Amino acid sequence: MIKENLNTVSTTIPSDVTLVAVSKTKPHEDILEAYEAGQRIFGENKVQELVDKHESLPKDIEWHMIGHLQSNKVKNIAPFVSLIHAVDSFKLLKEINKQAKKNDRTIDCLLQFHIAQEDSKFGLSFVEAKEILESNEFVELQNISIFGIMGMATFTQNEEQIREEFQALENYFNVLKSHYFKFNNHFQHISMGMSGDYQIAIEEGSTMVRVGSLIFGSR
Ligand SMILES: *Cc1c(COP(=O)(O)O)cnc(C)c1O
Repeated sequence: MIKENLNTVSTTIPSDVTLVAVSKTKPHEDILEAYEAGQRIFGENKVQELVDKHESLPKDIEWHMIGHLQSNKVKNIAPFVSLIHAVDSFKLLKEINKQAKKNDRTIDCLLQFHIAQEDSKFGLSFVEAKEILESNEFVELQNISIFGIMGMATFTQNEEQIREEFQALENYFNVLKSHYFKFNNHFQHISMGMSGDYQIAIEEGSTMVRVGSLIFGSR
């Protein structure tokens, strides 16, 4: 089933949009099935699970950390993680830089913005992001690279609301691009859209969707 689901989802995603297959809570066999169907990018939201799966699964998988990340756990994933989606504080960004440096590498990061109405979801405000990007300390972080931004819409049936939240995120991207990353082509991604809303997200400018249950079944 996973292979078929993956194909079905893939046909609805334009070729310039990256699909992150969200495999959290799913067993290794399920990931291997998607891998054998050609999928190479997988997303997890728990550090220990990510470390375990990285150790036992094929080494050419690109692992994305998509969930809230505690600073004290960055060291566990720093040697191998491809992209950290949910950078929601300056403290976390500095710790990622420190651990990346220890591993003699650069780690790609997305700044997570709070766009949902629910206050349970993590993320920066626009003002907080500005403060980070304008600080002298930020300029000195040589081992992180800001690859773009990420956000999660409110969990609701109200399509108009979801659309407006994605539009707000796209707007943040454009403003940041023109103010801070005009000559930096690395800043290019908007990670938005999950199983329930990725098609709206793509219509609103998403370049990276994080799809779990539509591929692997409900959790
Ligand atoms: C679980 C999760 C997803 C995928 O959710 P589905 O609804 O299963 O597609 C996407 N993004 C984040 C941050 C998640 O935690």
